[in-house]
Amino acid sequence: MNIHEYQAKELLRKYGVATPRGQVAADAAEAAAITESFGGQSVVKAQIHAGGRGKGGGVKFAKTPAEAAELFGRMMGMNLVTKQTGPEGRVVRTVFVSDPVDIARELYFSFLVDRATGRVTALASTEGGVEIEEVAAATPEKIVKVAVDPAIGLAEHHARELAFALGLSGDTFRKGVVFFRNLYKLFVEKDCSMLEINPLVVTKQGDVTALDAKIAFDDNALFRHPEVQAFRDLNEEAAAEIDASKFGLNFIKLDGSIGCMVNGAGLAMATMDIIQYHGSSPANFLDVGGGASEEAVKNAFRIILQDPGVKAVLVNIFGGIMRCDIVANGVVKAAREIGVQVPVVVRLEGTNVEEGKRILSESGLRIQVGADLDDAARKVVAAIA
Ligand code: ADP
Ligand code: MG
Repeated sequence: MNIHEYQAKELLRKYGVATPRGQVAADAAEAAAITESFGGQSVVKAQIHAGGRGKGGGVKFAKTPAEAAELFGRMMGMNLVTKQTGPEGRVVRTVFVSDPVDIARELYFSFLVDRATGRVTALASTEGGVEIEEVAAATPEKIVKVAVDPAIGLAEHHARELAFALGLSGDTFRKGVVFFRNLYKLFVEKDCSMLEINPLVVTKQGDVTALDAKIAFDDNALFRHPEVQAFRDLNEEAAAEIDASKFGLNFIKLDGSIGCMVNGAGLAMATMDIIQYHGSSPANFLDVGGGASEEAVKNAFRIILQDPGVKAVLVNIFGGIMRCDIVANGVVKAAREIGVQVPVVVRLEGTNVEEGKRILSESGLRIQVGADLDDAARKVVAAIA
């Protein structure tokens, strides 16, 4: 789960990580009032779950309270297109007004979970304010990496190594060390999967502060963080994924043509691989899980069919706990209720498979049955060729 910049900054403050003052404005008058309280100037920032806002027109400097009010009016409700939103953009529903900072240097700092080492890893670079992927491609030597030992946490000498790599000195160095250690504490205690401060700014006064903050959380640990769950903004999530989560289903939108209904993440991966192998690509996959009800299967099928990218559907179920007759009934009911305009291929195996196949063949619906996974994948790809 991702959160907005202003929410991330609330967490930073709780952990003693320096960040400029700032407040969400409900309307233009409040944007002006907040700006007034900062001494008459502010930075007005659109809140969407995507970066690159500065270049896209979502971060603007206001020289007066009146200008902040005007910027609020322009930003609120606008469709903000950035490099990270894709061409369709995102509607701005929240506007944050921040205290302007006198920037001396823009740096980069993040924590992420490195799968190769299995450790939380800090990345630091003197090249802040630009996308780290660009730095990694052009000047990889400018990124310093430190893997953290989970038993020890971010050790003092590691924090110092990072501060040194960023060229901090004197009092600023000491502030950097405190900043990184507090940030690490937040990362671990809140079960983050990624925490990026870009830019991390050294001010003309010699302070270290987080001008921007992006945090992603491990969804599997959200249950123990109700305060983080409260930050969830459904407007920023794909409608179909929310719809699926209501029925305990996992839906993932992709950009190919074949909708996939499967049970189990491993089977989903195998299904997508074999579709690619036969020359097409998945439009999505929906994992109905282990013991889904007929109602859940029906909704799963509906959600897949409502995806405009879907040109054909492959249902691939290996019924262990899941019963094939329940899947067949769910598919048939969904098909009858909403109508199916695209070819559907089903591969069923396992518990009650004969009953499942009988239900499909007697349904009168044009559903092809695959003899095995390979045959089913071949048929579904051929159906849209
Ligand atoms: P994004 O990463 O989405 O473009 P940022 O929050 O990083 O948005 O802002 C983009 C740029 O705007 C920053 O690199 C910085 O130069 C400037 N900026 C943002 N907030 C402030 C602030 N409070 N004071 C001064 N400059 C700011
Ligand atoms: Mg940024």
